[in-house]
Amino acid sequence: MYKIIDTHMDSFVSGNQYAPRDFGKKTNIGHVDYYRLREGNVAAVFFAVYPAYSDFLLNWGTNLWFEILENYSEYFYQIKKVENLKKIQNSEKVGAIFHFEGAGGIDSEFNNLKNFYRLGLRSMGITWSNSNRFGTGVGKNKERGLTAEGKELVQEMNRLGIIVDVSHLNEKSFWDVIEVSNKPVIASHSNAWKICHHDRNLKDDQIEAIKESGGTIGLNLCISFLKEGAEKPEKVGFKQIIKHINYIVEKAGIDHLTLGSDFDGARVPEVIKDVSYYPNLLRILEEEGFSSEDIEKITHKNIERVIKKVWK
Ligand SMILES: [Zn+2]
Repeated sequence: MYKIIDTHMDSFVSGNQYAPRDFGKKTNIGHVDYYRLREGNVAAVFFAVYPAYSDFLLNWGTNLWFEILENYSEYFYQIKKVENLKKIQNSEKVGAIFHFEGAGGIDSEFNNLKNFYRLGLRSMGITWSNSNRFGTGVGKNKERGLTAEGKELVQEMNRLGIIVDVSHLNEKSFWDVIEVSNKPVIASHSNAWKICHHDRNLKDDQIEAIKESGGTIGLNLCISFLKEGAEKPEKVGFKQIIKHINYIVEKAGIDHLTLGSDFDGARVPEVIKDVSYYPNLLRILEEEGFSSEDIEKITHKNIERVIKKVWK
């Protein structure tokens, strides 16, 4: 069985604040709880803190994040070290990787960044789809990329061992990250622009650059990133999902695709309406001719390679 490391879910904030649920029970609230994660064969998740515009919000979201981890410690454990990867495929618990979806609340001296690193922060986007002192998100000023401080931030993240996530950046910021970073970068939850013209998706040269960095692209299940103008979850089927998978694999090769669902943060197709439906997607990959080695790369081996390289 293929155990999944998903590179983006919003559950640790939504499940606490926006759609509260008992993570220790099987519910139908949101897309995620412990039992649905287990049915979905998920071994670990990059759980995001969002929104992250200010230090107030980073602290607020961090507190919510750790409340879930503490209240459901029977079901979840935090992954902070490369050595933790050895046990995740056999663990009964689901691993949680601490991620910030935006660096807006990080100070210029990086003091709080270092403290968040001590708490286990291991992955961060420079911005969400907004602009901040470090960089510029999708849909914002096309001429503005990373600021001088943003470039320093990327270097500091490289130095500490925090994965740089480019998913919400505009193109100029994206290329600034690629220029500055000396570690693999990830787009934790973005698809192929060629298949669906949405500015959260990646152009061909961006897919190529992530590959060159040694990084990964996490397949996002948000219906509007899968199919242009899709408004109803019933309107997007596996065929459309497979189009993105095949395209990214064709452009970047099998070593650079992962799963970054955006569960609990997006409207997803009816055919994969919560995380327990993941095995259906994997079955379809088998039917499409992906070998078990290929599927293992997509589900966890590719992101494990990035983690080993960046966290050191
Ligand atoms: Zn997002």
